[in-house]
Amino acid sequence: MRIPAWLLCFLLVSLSPVWAAGNWVRVRSPHFTVLSDGTEKQARDIAIGFEQIHAVFTQALPGLRTDSGAETIVIAPKDERTFVQLAPWQKKQSAQIAGEFHQGWEKDFVVVRLDFPDETRDTVYHEYIHKLLHLNFTRMPVWLDEGLAEFFGNTLFRSNQILIGAPSPRINFLRGKNTLSAPNHSHYRPGFSLLPRR
Ligand SMILES: [Zn+2]
Repeated sequence: MRIPAWLLCFLLVSLSPVWAAGNWVRVRSPHFTVLSDGTEKQARDIAIGFEQIHAVFTQALPGLRTDSGAETIVIAPKDERTFVQLAPWQKKQSAQIAGEFHQGWEKDFVVVRLDFPDETRDTVYHEYIHKLLHLNFTRMPVWLDEGLAEFFGNTLFRSNQILIGAPSPRINFLRGKNTLSAPNHSHYRPGFSLLPRR
C-alpha cells in the first residue's frame, strides 16, 4: 500500500501525543527501528522477526539489493487503544487489523500490534517483501509479485526450524470463491487473483 506524503505527515503528527502519554521503548536492529509502548522484550522480538524475514529473503535470493535507503520504522502498539490513536482512520475495523505497512519516500512505517499472535504478522511481512522485490524488479508480473510476497511473507519461525512458504491463513477465504478476471495480467493465476493487492 502506498500512501501520499500528506498522510505520512498526518501519521507523524498524530504520533506526538501518543509518545508523550505513555512509556515507549526504542530498539534498533541492523535494518529496523522498533518503537513500542509494550515491553523492551516485545520490541526486541518484533525486531528479531523482521530481521529473520530479511535474512530469509537475502539467503533465498542472494545477490539482490535489500537496502532501499528508506529507513523502516516499525511501530508496535501494545493494544487496540494505542493502535486507534496511531491510526484513527481505522477505528471502525480496528478489531480485525493486526498491522499495516505504509511505504514512503524517505521512511517506511510498519504498524504491528502486540495483542495479535505472531502468525498474523504475515500481512506486514508480505508488504515488506513487496518493498524488497520492487527494489530489484521494476516490471514484475502481478502474479509473481504477489506470489513471492505471499510465499516469503508466510514464513514461520520455530525454535529449531524455519518454514518458508507456509500455507496462507487466507486459504480458507480463497476456497469456495470463483476466480476473478484480471484483464491486464494474462498470467494471473487462479487463487492469487482473489487476493487484494496490498
Ligand atoms: Zn501484495
